[in-house]
Amino acid sequence: MRDIPRVGFVSLGCPKALVDSEHILTRLRAEGYHVAPDYHSADLVVVNTCGFIDAAVEESLDAIGEALAENGRVIVTGCLGAKGDTVLAHHPQVLAVTGPHAAAEVMEHIHDHLPPPADPYTSLIPPQGLKLTPRHYAYLKISEGCNHRCTFCIIPGLRGDLVSRPAGEVLGEAEHLVAAGVRELNVISQDTSAYGLDLKYRTSFWNGRPVKTRITELARALGGLGAWVRLLYVYPYPHVDELIPLMAEGHILPYLDMPLQHASPCILRLMKRPAHAENALARIRAWRETCPGLTLRSTFIAGFPGETEEDFRQLLEFLEAAELDRVGCFTYSPVEGAAANALPDPVPEEVKAERRDRLMELQAGISARRLARRLGQRIEVLVDAVTEDGAVARNAADAPEIDGVVLVEDGHGLEPGARVEVTVTDTGEYDLWARLDPDAA
Ligand code: SF4
Repeated sequence: MRDIPRVGFVSLGCPKALVDSEHILTRLRAEGYHVAPDYHSADLVVVNTCGFIDAAVEESLDAIGEALAENGRVIVTGCLGAKGDTVLAHHPQVLAVTGPHAAAEVMEHIHDHLPPPADPYTSLIPPQGLKLTPRHYAYLKISEGCNHRCTFCIIPGLRGDLVSRPAGEVLGEAEHLVAAGVRELNVISQDTSAYGLDLKYRTSFWNGRPVKTRITELARALGGLGAWVRLLYVYPYPHVDELIPLMAEGHILPYLDMPLQHASPCILRLMKRPAHAENALARIRAWRETCPGLTLRSTFIAGFPGETEEDFRQLLEFLEAAELDRVGCFTYSPVEGAAANALPDPVPEEVKAERRDRLMELQAGISARRLARRLGQRIEVLVDAVTEDGAVARNAADAPEIDGVVLVEDGHGLEPGARVEVTVTDTGEYDLWARLDPDAA
């Protein structure tokens, strides 16, 4: 073994799992460990797993198998780790298994199997911690767990009930990130609208100032840091109305990611969705009146058990009326341990797939129509990368990794992380094309 212990890291799953990985990596570096770039130079490997759907379970089990074959000393954490029996049944030789959001426990196991060096180089740790995202954007996790019990989801069983981070702590982290060059903060949780409920919206302190642990107050304070602030995983509760003026005033990005999953009241009830009794359409119309530039993103499930053709028609009608900007659709797939598995009237696979295709076809037209309105507009973009075709950037309507991009055809001279104004010269179903100087085309 070398003088400085080296830990390899494999990070799978959603942005919430990514943030867990960042916390563990930050603590490793804080204690003087090195992060190994490959299996062979690592003294042991941590695999942060996902267990959301069966395909993710398989990918996680494969990743553990690969780490065992290539390195041999493996600690497992993350959502699949919450099902320790499954991991051990497939890979009994792993050193230890923990659930998600368990940085302290993972560190204990690492200490047991690979003690830290005597003299940690704590000065090497940047105050913002270590990030797996590019330098110019970051995910900011404001809470863990969820108080809802959607019947298709096992996350509350894996991650527990809602536990919010005090606003002062979140703002302190955000401040460090911005000071380190982050230009876009993507606020994540399982249910962003519920932030602070578990703490009874307690007042916390940030730089000596009181801030309520509540989403409106947090969003307002984050908006003052100078970076783009994007809210993900928000449900259409009445108090979300308070966020829209902050968007209209340019304080935070006019963007809401609101996973609705369905529009038929009957299916929403079977799903036990949060805010299912709210009139989402009325709310969306009112929001757009306050903030005409609002981009709405949502995801839907086609073929949930019991979904009739009439339920599905209601969903398509909703989409036509709501004119959402960005939509994803998955066919329903049962997850081991989910309550929905016990529901009667499963929808045949071919019907699920056909409904998903119909939904996506309808939405492609809606998205293209909405994007076409941007033609000729001057918009601000954040550059992600520069290629020989120009700069690949995003505007307020594009969350990283999930939405479209803005291709800046004359952006060769830009740097990743630059925020610049461009003119939209062409539009497609998901992406925009633009130029810094439209007259030079
Ligand atoms: S809101 Fe529903 S789908 Fe989302 S984490 Fe909570 S239980 Fe799961």
